Amino acid sequence: MNYHIMTLFPDMIDMAAHTSIMGRAIANGSISLNIYNIRDYTLNKNKRVDDYTYGGGAGMLMQAQPIYDCYRAVCENIYKANPEVSGKKIRTVYLTPQAKVFNQGMAMEMSDEEDIIFLCGHYEGVDERVLEEIVTDYISIGDYVLTGGELPALIIMDAISRMVPGVLGNDESAKTESFDNGLLEYPQYSRPEEWMGKRVPDVLLSGHHANIEKWRRTQSELRTKERRPDLYEKYLATKETV
Ligand code: SAM
Repeated sequence: MNYHIMTLFPDMIDMAAHTSIMGRAIANGSISLNIYNIRDYTLNKNKRVDDYTYGGGAGMLMQAQPIYDCYRAVCENIYKANPEVSGKKIRTVYLTPQAKVFNQGMAMEMSDEEDIIFLCGHYEGVDERVLEEIVTDYISIGDYVLTGGELPALIIMDAISRMVPGVLGNDESAKTESFDNGLLEYPQYSRPEEWMGKRVPDVLLSGHHANIEKWRRTQSELRTKERRPDLYEKYLATKETV
């Protein structure tokens, strides 16, 4: 998995992505990260990348030219690294609140890609014409407005990377998480058996695997029903059709 990020704030991506599990995955070659500063591609002599919006309104808009030239450079580098994909349209994600909200299913589907380009917007957003030209997917991370697309890009890369072989130490752990079976994960406990007067549920100490599985399934259902009734409704509907 090779990520290519187009941003005006490369340090933000660089610092966060080189930490913890993503950092380790970059170091061991399971994923790669190429960060492009859109400002390097502006033809404006003052290095400007934004301008006023036609029709009026507050705020500045990122202009088409630097983004398009940056995108062309990203594609050229991808084609150079892998001539087999030369000339093919590379999956290009624009992070925007005006889109479908990202979920685990989308992370799973995207983890099959070899290259993904992310365009991080800032200010009031991006000139529509360059979006029409380069974007294949519009993705939001939630129904709220952030100052830029860098945090959404990091969130999406993090979720996808967990599905890439070699990223997690234990390959099993990606398969038993919340959302995998349409439910939230059950409560979990570690040592000691008793803490602050609270005991670990007896069934988890019993060594009886079938009972443990049953308990976990029930807890998952209860937790989903209580915390995410919308997911629980979907889960019930799929259970009925199976
Ligand atoms: N004017 C835009 C609108 O009303 O839809 C919002 C622009 S926002 C201040 C600046 C940038 O942050 C966007 O171009 C986008 O890249 C990013 N952004 C903000 N909220 C986001 C969200 N919920 N999901 C993904 N990206 C987001």
